[in-house]
Amino acid sequence: MVNLDDPVIQGLLLNLVGEEGMNVVINMPEEEITDDGVAEITNVPLNIVRRTLYILFENRLATYRRERNKDSGWLTYLWKIDLNGINELLKAETEKFIRNITTKLEFENNNMFYVCKNNCGRFVFDIVAELEFLCPNCGEDVVFEDNELVKQTLKKRINELT
Ligand SMILES: [Zn+2]
Repeated sequence: MVNLDDPVIQGLLLNLVGEEGMNVVINMPEEEITDDGVAEITNVPLNIVRRTLYILFENRLATYRRERNKDSGWLTYLWKIDLNGINELLKAETEKFIRNITTKLEFENNNMFYVCKNNCGRFVFDIVAELEFLCPNCGEDVVFEDNELVKQTLKKRINELT
């Protein structure tokens, strides 16, 4: 069983489907249901229910079955949520996140940074050196910023996740 109270899992789902989508995830029944049925149960607008179900489907967290009505010939989609794939998804997301921070850390390691005295932003050496150490945005002086703390924070984050 997937624990929806787990803040990490909650965060991942919230990222995927948004707040209204979370209402769908939390209130989906175990048995098959149509999108109309979900909208009725959850009070979430039908277009958001559909969007949420497709996002879940794309991430292998929901499946559907088509059923043709013998009289009308219309197709009905019967949805079923299955969050068992979430741990794998979580693993993949975490790996992606680690790659991102590793890239950031490399960037921090390979550059020197300068900040504008007016807080316009943070610039790398090459940019401000060309402008004789003036802010490219407002022209104010820039000052060197020790990025040791930034690097330590990124390293700590990577260690926590690996
Ligand atoms: Zn500036």
